[in-house]
Amino acid sequence: MTRPFVFPGLSTRVVFGHGTLAQVPDEVARLGHSRALILSTPHQQAEAQALADRLGDKAAGIFAGAAMHTPVEVTEQAIAAFRAARADCVVSLGGGSTTGLGKAIAVRTGADQLVIPTTYAGSEMTDILGETAGGEKTTRRDPAIRPEVVVYDVDLTLTLPVALTVTSALNAIAHAMEGFYAPDRHPITEALSRDAMVAFRDALPVLIEDPVNGEARARALYAAWGCSVTLGHVTMALHHKLAHVLGGSFGLPHAETHAVLLPHTTAYNEAAVGGLLAPIADTFGHGSAGAGLWHFAKAVNAPLRLADLGMTEADLDRAAEIATRNPYANPRPVSRDGIRQLLQQAWDGQCPA
Ligand code: NAD
Repeated sequence: MTRPFVFPGLSTRVVFGHGTLAQVPDEVARLGHSRALILSTPHQQAEAQALADRLGDKAAGIFAGAAMHTPVEVTEQAIAAFRAARADCVVSLGGGSTTGLGKAIAVRTGADQLVIPTTYAGSEMTDILGETAGGEKTTRRDPAIRPEVVVYDVDLTLTLPVALTVTSALNAIAHAMEGFYAPDRHPITEALSRDAMVAFRDALPVLIEDPVNGEARARALYAAWGCSVTLGHVTMALHHKLAHVLGGSFGLPHAETHAVLLPHTTAYNEAAVGGLLAPIADTFGHGSAGAGLWHFAKAVNAPLRLADLGMTEADLDRAAEIATRNPYANPRPVSRDGIRQLLQQAWDGQCPA
């Protein structure tokens, strides 16, 4: 029987290809703007400068201070730069940290955003913003957060370090995984997520040997787009909640934490969702989605143990307590003992049973 569904529509314009950076000036003009503030991390300042040169008089300035977890102090500095430059839109060039800064500016000023993603984290197609103030990270959803235009230029991902390529891809797969059992899933996210699984499965083994392989980079970035659409249009559950707790309360690195947790959160929920995770088991083999993802992660040299990310065994009780303090929807009931056991498995890094 065909499942009833609601499809909310896709509002973000997407330009995808090799060399699409050349189209950014036209895309800015198409939005009706002429003074873009370009955002980047300090690490990608040279790329931001090259884009400013390309934009010519459509570049109002560069703010190269984007930082992980979108600290509000950085946002305040960036808004001061936005106003001082009399900018009329933001262009965010980078990974999730830079996209987050663009969103934080947009939601406060009403500025339009054009995002040029250079990782697979998947923030660009979403209405989600996580921000840090006073050491605490809070996340919200708001239509005003969703970028107007995303320009995917495969060539910009050729420099993504291999380790981040792998963990960022697993971060993206986590969006697809939770999308398969999301109560508000619909055929667009299901189809894109299935396609993304296959594309990442085929691209990552090539990229760990040959990081500048253009076709494999294109496959991976295409997969990242599909996973980002899923993250931005359906509800996430246990996996994203746990990753948020470990990142926010224990300072664990974002993409690596997603990568390590993924097989274990998948296995935890797989038992409760009938065959909904079958596309993952079909794609990665090994008889189940959890085992398939663990073996894939191992094959592409991903980190497998929370212990290797700096988490101590003594932290696991507190993490389980924080993760189960506030109830949230999840296909399988979230019990403290169940989450403690899941965290132990992720800490040990064994293949989930
Ligand atoms: P990141 O943006 O922090 O980037 C990590 C480092 O890699 C940075 O120094 C960056 O400059 C560098 N880098 C990025 N692309 C590169 C490239 N192509 N070549 C060379 N270096 C490159 O990492 P991330 O994993 O993309 O983003 C993590 C952040 O994004 C977290 O704060 C997370 O919460 C957020 N996020 C938000 C959403 C959302 O929907 N709101 C979704 C996913 C991630």
